[in-house]
Amino acid sequence: MIVIGITGTLGAGKGTVVEYLTRKKGFEHFSVRGFLAEVIKNKGEEVNRDTLTHTANALRKENSPSYIIEQLYNQAIKRGRNCVIESIRTPGEIANLRKQKGFVLLAVDARLEVRFERIQMRNSETDRIDFETFRKNEEREMHSEDPNKQNLSACIKEADFILQNNGSIEELHAQVEKILADIDAHPAQIELKEGQPSSKYVRPSWDEYFMEIAHTVSKRATCDRGRSGCVIARGRQILVTGYVGSPIGLPHCDDVGHQMKKMLHEDGRITMHCVRTVHAEQNAISQAARLGISIDGATLYCRMTPCRVCAMLIINCGIKRVVCEKKYHAGEESEIMFRDAGVELEYFNQEFVKYDNQ
Ligand SMILES: [Zn+2]
Ligand SMILES: [Zn+2]
Repeated sequence: MIVIGITGTLGAGKGTVVEYLTRKKGFEHFSVRGFLAEVIKNKGEEVNRDTLTHTANALRKENSPSYIIEQLYNQAIKRGRNCVIESIRTPGEIANLRKQKGFVLLAVDARLEVRFERIQMRNSETDRIDFETFRKNEEREMHSEDPNKQNLSACIKEADFILQNNGSIEELHAQVEKILADIDAHPAQIELKEGQPSSKYVRPSWDEYFMEIAHTVSKRATCDRGRSGCVIARGRQILVTGYVGSPIGLPHCDDVGHQMKKMLHEDGRITMHCVRTVHAEQNAISQAARLGISIDGATLYCRMTPCRVCAMLIINCGIKRVVCEKKYHAGEESEIMFRDAGVELEYFNQEFVKYDNQ
């Protein structure tokens, strides 16, 4: 078992590396941002770059400089499987993690212009800034005399491996593969301490079990804008599954390309959507209809916040709980509907799913 810590600059592709490790390599993900976002939301404050930095600094001051990372490492080690912690931002945190044998630090970096372009594309709540603000934020976070303040350049220098992500996603994946092979080739350096609780096998929880099956189901998806899968279960039993794909008998995106439509929003924004497919959630519901299986009172597992149409169907099917792996960047409407309709909504991870041209 190894614990990979991720450090690196904003927009460098840390999330893409994490995504690859979790989806392709079976790593479990623990995020400082997710941890902090929970703390901030519980205080009723807005999650933005300033509150994230402020809360992180305050927690570290009240407890210890490596408090958050320690919490995440302890959670990770209990899982007994390969884990990735994102993201490491201070030299003090690294010093703490270096005491653990199974720890490897991986840095992700890219050129400033490339990174600014990327954060413009993903358009999340903390990313709506101009180039000058981006550059200034960066300068502030890159250097510090205090080992317990954010200092990305020092963190990157301490990394066991540095990924330069200026090219394609395939090139990045290839670099990750090479690093994993290097780690495999030198197991002695990263061996876990004896007697660590991690040596004991830990079974996945029921939620983890169904979510992992949803991952497997998603591999049959036929639209590469989001290969998602869905499992609907009640109690401890799977009722139905579904994945994103064209209606039966009609051509698939993977064969004939997407069928893109523009959507005009009230604020003038235009977004592009592929409308060729039936969504994973809709297909799971269709399967239930076809087979005559009641899904009343069931739990639905899916990759990200269901879209508006899926959310309405989910509510009317009597599904009582929805568990998503991550957030959909335009999922707020669905979140409000679920709340008003009394459907419980949970996330494994507070991050947003990223894909091209969203
Ligand atoms: Zn498509
Ligand atoms: Zn949908």
